[in-house]
Amino acid sequence: MKIFYSPKCLEYGAIGHPENCFRVENTAKFLQEKGFSFTEPNPCAVDDLLLAHSEELVAKVKSGQFFDSDTPNYTGIYNTAILAAGSAINAMNSALHNKVAFSLMRPPGHHAGRNFLGGFCYFNNIAIAVAKALENKEMNKAAIIDFDNHHGNGTQDIFLNDKWHDKVLYISLHQSPCYPGTGLKNEKNCINFPMTSGTGGAEYLKDFHKAIEHVKRFNPDMIAVSAGFDSYKNDPLTALELDINTFKEIGKRIADLKKHVFAILEGGYSQELPECVWKFLDGVETSV
Ligand SMILES: [Zn+2]
Repeated sequence: MKIFYSPKCLEYGAIGHPENCFRVENTAKFLQEKGFSFTEPNPCAVDDLLLAHSEELVAKVKSGQFFDSDTPNYTGIYNTAILAAGSAINAMNSALHNKVAFSLMRPPGHHAGRNFLGGFCYFNNIAIAVAKALENKEMNKAAIIDFDNHHGNGTQDIFLNDKWHDKVLYISLHQSPCYPGTGLKNEKNCINFPMTSGTGGAEYLKDFHKAIEHVKRFNPDMIAVSAGFDSYKNDPLTALELDINTFKEIGKRIADLKKHVFAILEGGYSQELPECVWKFLDGVETSV
């Protein structure tokens, strides 16, 4: 298991904001205690950002000319965002070489669309990494499995496009109704599993089984995972009720597909985020 992480991603934040540096810092410490080591990621290039985003959005984040109360204009956020996106590309490249990889970075990405930011996300890390692998013809087809509690409206926005129909399958399992309010039905290459608040692990895994069946039919070369842990039962922002072992089961079922796999941290705001991440990595590691 290769984990990409840089303490540089801890350098921004605002008091009281749930997407704070401690969630990732504590996870890094915990994983280190469990014997994991980290590889320093490289920032991505502007051309990489443009695989998934408009020039307008890139310019906006770079210049700081935007306002979104959830997604503040922090000093230096552009540099941190390109490091998180670069880390996703590093994880993707590691997966191509048969080494399952995880990017333990922030800001998260799946709410950033082609021409919009939001929901704590500036650039869509997973979309950039997947688009790069496909553009470089390093593989023909990728499936994205998004198990964050929230629908990845940004990822869907980027890949719900004729250019990507045959190449990318996007699958999201998420609480509904909930932010951002999208993902209520299937659309072309985007398969959505909205779930009511209070859904627990056993019910969740039934839909996860259906999601895996979609992936098998699509038969991708690679699986990219938007790993959000805010579907955990004690998460302060959300209302799905998964327990820690469900994340291990999710990891295992992805590993059972026997494909190249990389995962990227999205949300997760509870004190137990480190254990949730560890359990998922423990499950998915069996794919090596
Ligand atoms: Zn989320």
